[in-house]
Amino acid sequence: MMTNPKNMQILLAHRPHGWVKESDFKIVETDRPEIKDGEFLVMNLWLSLDPYMRGRMNDAKSYAAKTELGAVMVGGTVGVVTESHNPKFQVGTIVLSNFGWQSYGISDGKGLRILPGKEGISLSAYLGALGMPGITAWIGLMSIGQPKSGETVVVSAASGAVGSVVGQLAKMKGCRVVGIAGGKTKCDYVVNELGFDACVDYKAGQLAENLAAAAPNGIDVYFENVGGEILDTVLTQLNAFARIPLCGFVSQYNVTQPYAIRNFGALLTNRAKLQGFIVSEHTDLWPQAMQELENLVSSGQLKYRETIAEGLQNAPAAFIGMLKGENLGKQLVKIV
Ligand code: NDP
Repeated sequence: MMTNPKNMQILLAHRPHGWVKESDFKIVETDRPEIKDGEFLVMNLWLSLDPYMRGRMNDAKSYAAKTELGAVMVGGTVGVVTESHNPKFQVGTIVLSNFGWQSYGISDGKGLRILPGKEGISLSAYLGALGMPGITAWIGLMSIGQPKSGETVVVSAASGAVGSVVGQLAKMKGCRVVGIAGGKTKCDYVVNELGFDACVDYKAGQLAENLAAAAPNGIDVYFENVGGEILDTVLTQLNAFARIPLCGFVSQYNVTQPYAIRNFGALLTNRAKLQGFIVSEHTDLWPQAMQELENLVSSGQLKYRETIAEGLQNAPAAFIGMLKGENLGKQLVKIV
């Protein structure tokens, strides 16, 4: 296997104030790390770019540790073992790991998953529909949203990695499913390819009117990915005993003046439940979620798309693009 003696790494150079910029990152080349006894070297093939990474760039209290200045950006990776001093991880083994924004990683095997290499399933899917984002969709929807047949489920960032899975799972539960997404292309994709009943383009204006038309019986479950004005609008259209899995707030990750929610009282008047959750804290549900998602993807019932940036050096631009909505489906970087 062709390997490079150098390890490209992308480091956090500055903590962004407001919108993240390419100059907040620094690309360096270091010597490829040497493995010790019990360790193995992984050449990363795929890097996942996820909105949570923006939070790690801040110097703020959160559920996870911040990335230190000068440290490699964190991130999920799929790679191949290229050198090994560990009998359980032979050369050629494909692993799912968290080596971050760099071309190589070293491990002793702890916390890594060997990927099965199933026919018809691409390795990159383990960073998207079959990976952390898909599992996030499954856990938030099933354990907090608890959709019932005939109910109306609305999901924001509907064409994205998480939202696209949420909507399809809710459809399988017999719900009316309404997406909210930015632009006609994304809305067409969500309806025509993923099978949502309707999709509201929030960039087209008249969000409240268009949402009411798409969800004429009100909203029973709102899977929240974006926050801000979209959340505020949805709150006014909740049904009694609505459930809101609070998954993400992507519209607010790069703003300096947070949007102030006005319609919070709707949670009380509708006796609604809003619950934030972090996917990594629900490890008890991961095996079931992974199994079901894998069955659905391999049988073709669960569809997904990927937006792929070629080359690790393009990760910063692709990351910023994803936060601005330039991705359709899961945003990835093809490293090799
Ligand atoms: P996506 O693939 O959905 O990409 C992000 C999308 O956010 C963009 O494509 C864009 O879509 C949308 N967006 C960006 N800015 C705005 C805005 N101002 N208003 C509305 N939409 C906006 O990302 P993921 O599927 O990976 O993540 C979706 C959400 O889930 C994020 O908030 C993320 O933080 C959260 N998450 C939470 C987890 C948890 O454990 N709680 C785990 C994983 C993800 P559009 O063009 O439609 O605007």
